[in-house]
Formats: sequence, C-alpha cells, structure tokens
Amino acid sequence: MSIAIDGPSGAGKSTVAKALAKRLKIPYVDTGAMYRAIAYAYLEGGRPEDLEEFLKTMPLKISPEGIYYKGKLLDKELRTSEVTMLSSSLSKEAPVRQYLLEDQRRLGQDHNVVMEGRDIGTVVLKDAAFKFFLTADVDLRAKRRHEQNIEKGLESNLEEVKEDLLKRDQQDLHREIAPLKQARDAILIDSSHLTLEETVEKMAQYVEEGQ
Ligand code: C5P
Repeated sequence: MSIAIDGPSGAGKSTVAKALAKRLKIPYVDTGAMYRAIAYAYLEGGRPEDLEEFLKTMPLKISPEGIYYKGKLLDKELRTSEVTMLSSSLSKEAPVRQYLLEDQRRLGQDHNVVMEGRDIGTVVLKDAAFKFFLTADVDLRAKRRHEQNIEKGLESNLEEVKEDLLKRDQQDLHREIAPLKQARDAILIDSSHLTLEETVEKMAQYVEEGQ
C-alpha cells in the first residue's frame, strides 16, 4: 500500500510523513531530499553546464537507507539555504525530474511506503492507495521551518525563511513539468490549527478506515 503526501514547502510534510510511516510500520521516502542531493552534487561538481552529462556521471546513490554522495551519507548538507533554493531551480529541469522518477517509482512500487514531495499523487505514484495534500498558512509554515532550522543548529532568519518559502512555492506551482498541484483524488489537510499529533491522527484514520 502506498501513501502519497504532497504540499507546499514547510507544510510539515516530512515530519508528518515520518510519523505516519512509523505508526503504519512502513518505510518513508523523502523525495525532496533527492532534489536537494542533486543540488548538492551540482555545487560540489562546480555547477557543470551540461546537465545531462552531469547526471550520467553523478556519484549519487539513492537507497531506502538514505542518499549517499561518493559513499558519504548526506544529511545536514542538504538543508543549507543555498542547496534549498538551488534544488527548487533544478527541479524545473526535465532531465533532473526524469532521472529521479525512476528511483522514486522503484522505491514506491516495490514497497509499502509513505512518499512525500510535490508531484507524488499526480505523477510519481498516481495509483497510490491514499493521497493527501498537506498545507498550512504561510506565516505558520515560515515559523515552523525557522524553528526547525534553529533546532538543527542551522542559521535562520524568519523573514528570509518566509521569502524563500514564497519563492519556492511560486517556482513549484508554476513550473511546466510536474507542478505542485493537489491531485483530484487527494484529501486536503490544512494543518494550520492542528498539532503534529492531530495531523497524523487525522491521516491515519483515513488510512485505517479506508483499508
Ligand atoms: O520538500 P523539500 O523542500 O525538501 O524539496 C526541495 C525542493 O525539491 C522543492 O522546493 C521542490 O522544488 C523540489 N521537489 C520537487 N518534487 C518533489 C519533491 C521536491 O520538485 N516531489
């Protein structure tokens, strides 16, 4: 059984997806981390001009355990603001989306999984058993992301975080390929006035009652 969670930046998709996966005892796949890893590799590679050539030789390994660059497990380096903004720009590019689509489908179709991103319900796992579109008020999204950054020991400025969120939303909503969009059969969850536990509970109920 696969579960797709999409929504704008900072809506809490990762936290909610992780908690839901834990509750359902199935793996969790963060597709945003894959776009971030490509951005990281692109920077490490000196911003190569030929994107297709770069993707062919890129030393990235995507597995259910995590994403490795030259054998090193990527984590904090994926959360810098440079990587964040670049991941959004690179995610517009057809070769990048095509490159990741295969890995995403492989991880989604062979396993029971909770997969989160922007186009999971509309493109990657169109046949997912459950689809959720998770959103929240932009000021709350910015505040939560800002607090998360601080918790992770990253530098953070609330106004900048909000500006970056809005910019990424615009890029993700208006790109030509696989834009951020609620799938017609997705359940809309607005987490503005819900705690993490309440959000997960609500989603888990849909899944448990719908099975
Ligand atoms: O979810 P996260 O913020 O980590 O994603 C980083 C960027 O990757 C997003 O801003 C978005 O542009 C891109 N992305 C995407 N499709 C996905 C997941 C992420 O285009 N399925």
